[in-house]
Amino acid sequence: MTHKTDLHDLGVAQLASALRDKQVSAVEAAQHFLARAKAHQHLAAYLAIDEDVTLAQARAQDAALAAGQAAPLAGLPIAHKDVFVTRGFPTTASSKMLAGYRSPFDATVVARLAQAGCVTLGKLSCDEFAMGASNEKAAVAPLGFNAAEPARNPWNLQHVPGGSSGGSAAAVAARLAPAATGTDTGGSIRQPASFCGITGIKPTYGRASRYGMIAFASSLDQAGPMARSAEDCALLLSQICGPDPERDATSLDYPAEDFTRTLQDSIAGLRIGVPAEFFSDGLQADVRAAVEAALKEYERLGAKLVPISLPRTELAVPVYYIIAPAEASSNLSRFDGVRYGHRAKEYTDLLDMYKKSRAEGFGDEVKRRIMIGTYVLSEGYYDAYYLQAQKIRRMIADDFQAAFQHCDLIAGPVAPTVAPKLGAQTDPVTSYLADIYTLPASLAGLPGMSVPAGTGAGGLPVGLQLIGNYFQEAKLLNAAHRLQQSTDFHLVKPEGI
Ligand code: GLN
Repeated sequence: MTHKTDLHDLGVAQLASALRDKQVSAVEAAQHFLARAKAHQHLAAYLAIDEDVTLAQARAQDAALAAGQAAPLAGLPIAHKDVFVTRGFPTTASSKMLAGYRSPFDATVVARLAQAGCVTLGKLSCDEFAMGASNEKAAVAPLGFNAAEPARNPWNLQHVPGGSSGGSAAAVAARLAPAATGTDTGGSIRQPASFCGITGIKPTYGRASRYGMIAFASSLDQAGPMARSAEDCALLLSQICGPDPERDATSLDYPAEDFTRTLQDSIAGLRIGVPAEFFSDGLQADVRAAVEAALKEYERLGAKLVPISLPRTELAVPVYYIIAPAEASSNLSRFDGVRYGHRAKEYTDLLDMYKKSRAEGFGDEVKRRIMIGTYVLSEGYYDAYYLQAQKIRRMIADDFQAAFQHCDLIAGPVAPTVAPKLGAQTDPVTSYLADIYTLPASLAGLPGMSVPAGTGAGGLPVGLQLIGNYFQEAKLLNAAHRLQQSTDFHLVKPEGI
């Protein structure tokens, strides 16, 4: 093992085995990462930590390890995106609306990881209610700050870490946690993973329980792990997936799987579909070059590149930005100042209280989506917008099925650019358009991941997106792992980390 002062350089697999072999204790590991979280507060990745809660969990894992009853990931520290409700920690979804909220229970994903032996380090920043692509929409003060502040990209502090799971990506890239959870509604695991040079996977819709995940767009939201390597993601995803029929009606009756078993499989003959539409004009030359180099590496490893078409790629943006706000407007109606969250101090009557509480509690982007969503669901517009969007959503899913007749996986860029500068995206539409490559898989409910594939402008990371057919997570992780065995992009650290 490395020296105990370098514990943060160990990935999930290495740290879990060091813990099992008692080369390091769960308490030592937790203390090490908590100290790093505090020493790197300028990254604004963590919103909250609680040393007493974390160390109590770690001591329980040390006891299990001593008794020879250790769970597979006993003592592994992990941090959670702040949209997972987590007992013992505040949960805010980065919104003023939920400031001070503490959940009496754990989200299923959190509970499953805890059962697997993981120790919670704290909660991580995100865009408010997971709406955004830069973490700049975070509306609560991170650890060590007095006011809201976006998480920073550890590769360049002037740049965004991506979003909405920006705190998760920043924390993992800066080694403030060996791994983190994220959620992906339209790209929020893949895009920040790409911007921060880490690995992240969103499983097939319905494979991970949404219970206790604060809802944004229920037909799209999925949880997944963010870590440095595909192997680490496989270890975590194996614990996260599995049916949760009593608590999440959309959870699929599809068994959990050990995704590590097939990591080493050969990819000779693997047919990788390359959609022409993912390499159109908007794709920046630096990103294109890195992605094409990764595709070449796949060819060298024996895979076959197959040109395919996903003809409705461009429509994914308007379709998503109708469906997601529609669902959000409904989901967010529960935040009314009565049942949860912020309540205005002064009001005249009940309606005034609702209005003022929501006006004060929600940020601009959330309000924009509530208004768009309410509009497209209202009488007269429902048929023109919402229903049309649903129809095209189905066609997008069908296009993928047609493409999978000719290939086993699909590969392309995650985002058209590397991480933009903080403050550069002032126009919401520009930001929405940049989601173009992640939205199609989300709308179709397909699994997708981001794998580090080198650097682009300014030395900032570029991610390769891999998309699989339903339930093909093992194939994605296998392909990603093989790439990571022959490249070292996932091992490079940001300067000063
Ligand atoms: N950027 C997309 C949005 O703003 C995706 C967000 C997500 O996946 N949570 O909606």
